[in-house]
This record gives sequence, structure tokens and C-alpha cells, in this order.
Amino acid sequence: MNDSLRLLLVDDDEVDRMSVRRALRNAAATLDIVEAGDAASAIGHLQSGGFDCAFLDFHLPDGDGLSVLKAARSGGVTLPIIMLTGQGNEELAVELMRAGATDYLPKAQIKADILLHRLNNALRIHAAEAEQLRAELALQESNKRIVDILESISDAFFALDGAGRFTYINSQAETLLGKPRAALLGSEIFTTLNKEAGWFRDRLEKAMQEKVPVTAEGLYAPQNIWLELHVYPGNDGISVYFRDISDRKKIEERLSYLANYDALTQLPNRVLLMDRLNQALSRAPWRGRILAVLFCDLDRFKIINDTLGHNIGDHLLKVAAARLTGCVRTGDTVARLGGDEFVIILNDVANTDDITPVAHKILEAFATPFELNNEELFVGTSIGIAIYPNDGQDADTLIKNADTAMYRVKAQGKNAYQLYSPEMNAKASNRLALERDLRRAMERDELLLHYQPQVDSDTQAIVALEALVRWQHPTLGLVPPLDFLPLAEETGLMPLIGEWVLHTAATQTRAWTAQGLPPVRIAVNLSDREFKRTDLIGLIQRTLTNTGLAPAQLELELTEAILMQDTRQAQALLQRLRDLQLHLSIDDFGTGYSSLAHLKRFPVNTLKIDRSFIRDIETNDDDATITSTIIAMAHGLRLNVVAEGVETAAQRDLLRLLGCHHVQGFFYSKPVPAAQMTALLAQGHFKKDET
Ligand code: C2E
Ligand code: MG
Ligand code: MG
Repeated sequence: MNDSLRLLLVDDDEVDRMSVRRALRNAAATLDIVEAGDAASAIGHLQSGGFDCAFLDFHLPDGDGLSVLKAARSGGVTLPIIMLTGQGNEELAVELMRAGATDYLPKAQIKADILLHRLNNALRIHAAEAEQLRAELALQESNKRIVDILESISDAFFALDGAGRFTYINSQAETLLGKPRAALLGSEIFTTLNKEAGWFRDRLEKAMQEKVPVTAEGLYAPQNIWLELHVYPGNDGISVYFRDISDRKKIEERLSYLANYDALTQLPNRVLLMDRLNQALSRAPWRGRILAVLFCDLDRFKIINDTLGHNIGDHLLKVAAARLTGCVRTGDTVARLGGDEFVIILNDVANTDDITPVAHKILEAFATPFELNNEELFVGTSIGIAIYPNDGQDADTLIKNADTAMYRVKAQGKNAYQLYSPEMNAKASNRLALERDLRRAMERDELLLHYQPQVDSDTQAIVALEALVRWQHPTLGLVPPLDFLPLAEETGLMPLIGEWVLHTAATQTRAWTAQGLPPVRIAVNLSDREFKRTDLIGLIQRTLTNTGLAPAQLELELTEAILMQDTRQAQALLQRLRDLQLHLSIDDFGTGYSSLAHLKRFPVNTLKIDRSFIRDIETNDDDATITSTIIAMAHGLRLNVVAEGVETAAQRDLLRLLGCHHVQGFFYSKPVPAAQMTALLAQGHFKKDET
């Protein structure tokens, strides 16, 4: 009990008040007792507060104690109130207690010890109640704070009780689950999620049953969003945090797409190809199936890409990708390795006989011309095939061997397929050795030039020479240019070789003139890439100055690809070369894709008709027609025409009939070393009877 207490004593009977006072006389605390005799002043005192306890008589002159009690309690008065009644009455006691009385005491029992005991009791109960109330308020306050927090966090949150019923849902959860809070609260989550998101339900059940925290990600189908889920088990129920990770998922998907697919063709890239191949290989043995890797490389892609431009090249690749995809079954993989290289995995093949029909199908698909740049262009493909398990047990070996087989197709004329065989590897490693040797060939001075005459078939006179490079290899012997120039282009040696050829041919021709031989024109071949050298003009001027060769004696043989570029730049460059007084010709005319329209815009002097038209000119009507058309057209444009690869008198005579009088070919002379050419030049012309 406190040291001092302030008590309110309400009784209309003076004597009764006296006896209460007396009974309290021995209280341990100092008492300050305020007395009142009627209901009105009792209510006034109670509401004004400041009392630790009140004694309230049931019978009052202006009303009864019960209504005072009720009024006080409903007015928020919380102090302990002990009711005093004239006589004991169980029913009344119950009613009073219900109305908020702290205790109830018949007046007959007002004795010191009883009253003090009841007072103490009432004060203690009140203190305990007040404490509990404070605790409850504090709890409410902290719950409110938690709810505020749960509402303000960006995560969605809900809590379930031990039976899986929603006990709390924040508004973010309401939004993500797409259901109103009111409908969810109290409902059982497992019935809600059962049909809609199995994974979600499974994780919640796991957390509940095993009492472990669980984290998961998954698609929440009802809202079509990806959720990241964190579940924490509590004493009775679980707390569930989750958030919408759809944006992150989209980025992840995009990144994984970029990492696995080729952006241009949308085909799987090398990474995904290796992945799929390795997977297929891991399954293949126990299924007893075979598996084929087809390595496809487009023919003449480079020339199209270089001459018609990258946009057209890209378009070609896309169409080619679609054609390849159209040739295989859904379970097969068509991937782009890069450039114009594609790899196909034929999965699950029953036997080897099923593979070549696919290769045929691909070749057929490429037999249709490609619609590019408003022209129809034919682009073939070369296919190398390696088969698991015979041609390799692992992905790298299979791809490497298919590549090797593809190279064989290229070497043998392209646009065909070839199955891998082990002997090919010997060839492939030769290629590596050749590349190594070629790098040293320049230092070792192993290159040389042969010269082949162009002859006027009317007079048998030599009108020009063509310089053709050869490689005197220490062990392989004389290597023809087509066997090492492509390699030189690939390895970056071509500019060096080109400079050497130009310089050597010019020096030799100048020497012949200096020896008193009739001045002859020397034709030098320029590859497409050499033509694009930025220092081409400078290189030629330097060569002419250093060797003293007259510009009119130098002829450049350019590829048809240069015409196809059809750019102002190319035109301007050709014009500058012509301004230097050089002679310009288009080599192997008819094999490329150039048209008359192209030709008109370029300042060239000569067309050299490709050997392939001349070979069968007597027997093949098409070849004869094309040749006569080229000749007529060249004359119309005031261009010279030279027929290449003339091997027989009959060919020469037919060409003369068609109006082509300049020929080059084995019929007159093979390309020969400089010394032999010196003799031919001294002779000046071929004898009539030689023909
Ligand atoms: P090209 O410029 O068309 O040279 C003509 C090719 O046809 C030469 O082959 C020549 O030996 C061959 N030929 C000439 N007459 C006949 C014939 O009657 N019958 C047959 N079957 N063939 C004949 P070669 O020397 O093997 O050169 C091949 C190609 O290599 C050349 O074709 C040219 O494009 C290129 N090339 C040669 N030397 C050089 C060079 O120094 N620089 C560049 N960039 N390319 C060169
Ligand atoms: Mg040539
Ligand atoms: Mg030629």
C-alpha cells in the first residue's frame, strides 16, 4: 500500500461513514478521506479524479449506487470502487461486479481488519489491471508500428496461423496475389493456391512442416508474374515475404538469350551448340543411337559480303539460316558458329544412311537463287559431315573433323558434301605446315614468276605477258598459286607477296626492254584485297619510278568483284590508275555477278573471258552463246577482249570467227620461267605453221 492514499467515501448515513472511518483508522498509510452524501456529488468527485479508491453506498438519496457506478465506468473512471450495501444479496453482488465494481461488502462486515484487507485487495487488483492495460496498450502500439512497417516496406507480406489461415496481409501482397484482403483474411491459403501455383504452396508447406526457412522463385500463373519468396516459420504459423521479380527475370532471360543465340540469325551460337552437342553425346551411348555433325560453309559468301556490302551479306546469312533450319527436324540443332559457318547436329539417327539425304536436301535448298540487291544470285554451300561414334567421341573432335571434311569439299570445287575420313587429317595438318612454311618463303626467296604470252591470232605476235606467281617449296616442289594465295590472304602475307610480284615483274620487263627486245606490256594480277590497299597508287608509282618501267607497259588484272562494288570510290580509283596511263583489265570475266550496266561505268581497257567458257566452246552451245555475247558487248563498249585458256587450234579459230583475236593459253604457250620467255620475246611471234 502507498504511503498516503486519497479515498472517496460516499454514504448518506453519517453513522455508517463514521464506522468506515473508524475501521480505517489503523491503516498503515496516511489517509485523506473525502466524504460525499449523494449520487450527484459522488459522480462529480469520481469524474474529477485524484482518488486511489472509492467506497460507494448502494442506497443514496438521489439515486442508487449502481447507476453512479455505471456512470463512472462508462465515463472512463478506472479507480477501484468497493460497493457497500445494507444487506448481503448474491444477485445484487453479481450485478454490481458486472457493472464494474471492484469489490462488494455488506455493511454488517465493516470491521477494521476486513475493510483494510478488502481495500488492500482492491488496490492490488487495480494495480495489476492497470499494469495489464498498460501492457496491452504497449502491445497494441507496437503491433500498430509493425503493421505500419509491414505496410511501408516494398515487399509483399502475409502471415498464416498454424492451420494455414491468413492472419495478416499487407497491401503489396494484396496487389501481387490479385485478391482483396477481406476475401483472404481468415481463409485457408492451401485451398487458394492449390490450383494456381503448386510450387508456392509446396514451399509454404515445407516451411510449416519442417520448421525451416525457405527461399524460392517461380512464376505465379494467376497474375503472370515472377515471385521471389522468403518463408520464415514461427511458433504458430509462418511469415511470408515475397516480391515481384518479373523485370529482373526479363533481363536475365534476355541476357541468357544473348549469351546463347546469334543476334543476326536468331540461331543458337557456339556456346549453345556445344551445350546441346555435349548433352546429345551424353545420352547417345545408352540409347545406342548415332549422331551426325554437319559443318556447312557458304560458298562465295566472302566475295558477296565484300562487294555487295554487309547489309546484303547479313540478309544472305538470314535467308541461308532459314533454309538450313527448313532442312532438319525439330529436335535437331542448327547453329551459327560465326561468319558464314553453320553447324547442324542431327540427333538420334538410326543409321548412317539417314544422314546423306539431309545433306542432299540442304544442297537442293541452296540450288534456288537468293534474291539479293534486286538480282538473283546463286550461293552454294559446302558440307562436311562427321558421325558419332566413328569420327569422334567428343564435341570438339566431331566439329573439327566435320570442318576438315568441309575443307575437302571446298578444295574439290565446292557446293557438295563429304563424309569425314581419317586420311583427311593428314591433309589438314599439311595445311598448317604450309602456313608455317609460307611465312618463311619470302625470307628464303622461294617465290618466282612465270610468264605467259597473250597472242594476236591473226599475226601470231605476242601482244602482252601475264606474270603468274609460283612457290618453289623445298620439299613439295613447285606449288601453284591457287594452293597458297588463299592461305596468304588469310594469314596477312598477301600484301607482301603482291609487292614482290609487282616489283619483280616490272624489273624483269624493264630488263627485257633494256636488252633491246621490243617493249611488251606486262599484266600483273591484283586480288580484291590488294586493290583495296590504301597505298595502292603510291605503291605503283614507286614501283614505276624505282624500276624505270613505262606506265603504259603495266597492266593490272582486276577481279570482277571490283565492278560489283559499283562505288564512286572504286570508280575514282580506277580513273586515277587510268590517268597514270596504266592498262586495266577485268580477269576471269563471266564468273562473277557483274552486269553490263556495271561495266559501262568503269574505265577499263580489256575483258579477259574466263577459261571455263572457252573449254567447251565447240560443244556447249550455252558457252558459245555467252562468249559471243561477251565479245559483242565488249566491242560495243570499245573494250579489248582476250580469251583465256585456249588449248586448241579449233578453239582459237572459233574465237576468231566470233571476233576475238587475242588469246592466251597452252595452245601457244604455258606460263614459262623468265629465261624461256626471253627466247620467245626474241622470236617476237609464233610461227604460222606452229598453229
Ligand atoms: P588467272 O589470272 O586467270 O591466270 C590464268 C591461269 O590459267 C593460270 O593459272 C594459267 O596457268 C592458267 N592457264 C593459262 N592457259 C591455260 C590453258 O590453256 N589451259 C589451262 N588449263 N590453264 C591455263 P595459274 O598460274 O595457276 O594461276 C591461277 C590464278 O592464280 C590466276 O588466274 C590468278 O587469279 C592467280 N594468280 C597467279 N599469280 C598471281 C599473283 O601474282 N597475284 C595474284 N593476286 N593472283 C595471282
Ligand atoms: Mg590473270
Ligand atoms: Mg584469268
